[in-house]
Order: sequence, then structure tokens, then C-alpha cells
Amino acid sequence: MYIGRFAPSPTGSLHIGSLLTALASYADAKSQQGKWLVRIEDIDPPREVKGAADEILHTLESFGFEWDDGVIYQSRRQHLYRDALNELMAQNLAYPCFCSRKDWHNAAKIGVDGFVYNGHCRPSLMSTHKIKSTHKQAAWRIIVPNENITFNDAIIGLYTQNLAHDIGDFVLLRADGYWAYQLAVVVDDAEQGITHIVRGQDLLVSTPRQIYLQRCLKQKTPHYAHLPLLVNQHGQKWSKQTLAPKLNLTQCEQILRQVMHYLNIPNAPSVNRPQDLLTWTIQHWQLNHLPTHSINTEKETK
Ligand code: GLU
Ligand code: ZN
Repeated sequence: MYIGRFAPSPTGSLHIGSLLTALASYADAKSQQGKWLVRIEDIDPPREVKGAADEILHTLESFGFEWDDGVIYQSRRQHLYRDALNELMAQNLAYPCFCSRKDWHNAAKIGVDGFVYNGHCRPSLMSTHKIKSTHKQAAWRIIVPNENITFNDAIIGLYTQNLAHDIGDFVLLRADGYWAYQLAVVVDDAEQGITHIVRGQDLLVSTPRQIYLQRCLKQKTPHYAHLPLLVNQHGQKWSKQTLAPKLNLTQCEQILRQVMHYLNIPNAPSVNRPQDLLTWTIQHWQLNHLPTHSINTEKETK
């Protein structure tokens, strides 16, 4: 059984890049008779935009997407992240970190995703039982191993990281009390029985951290496929920060055809409704026909 998902963060409206991720994850699931779930990743209130979650769901519906089961909201599942942290604490893998960002950034080297935490607060195993898990200002980090983590991505091929060198002990619970994306995503993917993850290449760098967490929590590792990003003329990923244009819902068909073109789906005949373009995409879906690198949406106009 295939279970896939689309997991937007409600930090703004859906844009062309997130629509590409939605379409690709949907087509990959449906072409294998799978389920396609939608999960709203609303665990970072400071970055959230009011109303964005509803707007995203409405946009998906306008483009003809239908999800299986109910929509999951991460903000309502904090007890599950707490359970996972407790489990990691019981294994002496998690520890509180009291460093301020300024403290540790000064001394840190740059890894593949920002600064590498130098392990300043990493306890000796002897002292972990003394640590108060209730300390308010602490962030909680996980101890990472000095060994390679490799996985075979369906689009990129083999990808390897050494978490100790490339990332450092990473945060599970932030000092401001919010759960880290890395922990929440792993807990939910496992709890929802996700077998296949199709998402943007901006998250490739996170995947070894997630695989490591899956191993610590004794979960299965799903199959991964990391999609090429849509970028602007400066090579930047389309996002809220790069002012991705809002999708115009009176032009769903044209926009879908453009995204299908980026995904190398053959031209579809004229259709009555956007759903028919989704069906066409499912019928012509082949992961190994996708482009592997970023697509500049401003260079090429069809
Ligand atoms: N919520 C993440 C985002 O919007 C995606 C998470 C994932 O697909 O793992 O970028
Ligand atoms: Zn610290």
C-alpha cells in the first residue's frame, strides 16, 4: 500500500512551486493506486499567516485535488512530539541546550545547512539523569553520530551526509517552546503510515536528520523523491520571501498546464475542468522523466 502526503506550512498562499509539489506528490500516489493525505504544518506560530491554512485547502480544491481521510493539523498533535522527545530522553539521546544563538554561532563552523552546533551542552551520559526536563529556556537537542547516513533518492540518486560534520546536534524542541520541524515531520509521517515522500529539493538537506530520527524511534524509513525547485531569474526558490506571485484561481487550467510542462508531462488535449488535467498527469506520470535540477520559470515562457 502506498500512502503519500502533501504537507504545506501555512506561512502564506500556495504559489507555483508548492503547486508543483502538490501535483507531483498527488500524481505519484494516484499512479500507484495510493492514498494522498494533506497535513497542515502549523507548529511555528511566529511564521504563520492567519487564514493561510484555509486558503491553501481552498486553492487545492479549486485545482481539483481531492485528499483521502481528514486533514491533519500539527498544532493539535503536540502530545505525540512530546512522547517522541521523552523516548529519546529515555535513551539518553536528547539533552537541553542553554546556549544563546550568539554564544555558539561565534565559534561554529558552517555546515551544509547553516552553523554546525559544537556540542557545548552535550552531557556526559553520567550526568543526564540530573537534568531538569522542565527548564523553560532550554532548547532540546539530539546527539548525532559521526557516521555517514546515505539514502537513495528516486530523483537525485544517492545522497550522503555525516550528521556530526555536516549538521551537528540539532534541535528537537526550540527554546521558545515550539517543536522543531525535523521532529514533528518524522513523528507524523510514521504515525500516518506514510510510505512515500515526494517534496522539494530544498528539503533534501533535512532528510538524513529525519532518517536518523526514524532509526532512533525505531520507525521505517519511507521512500524519498526530491523534486526540482522552481526558481526565479536570480536562481532563488519561489517563496513568500522571493515574492512568488499569488495563484490566480480564474486561471487554474493555464497554471496547471504550465506546471505539467515543467514536469515534462506531454501536452494534454482540451479539457472541461482542472480535474481532467490531474487525471492526464496521473496517466502520464513517470518519476524518471522529471527534470532533476532547478527550473527557471522566468527564462522560458511557453
Ligand atoms: N511543511 C514543509 C514546507 O512547507 C514541507 C515538509 C515536508 O514535505 O516534509 O516546506
Ligand atoms: Zn548549548
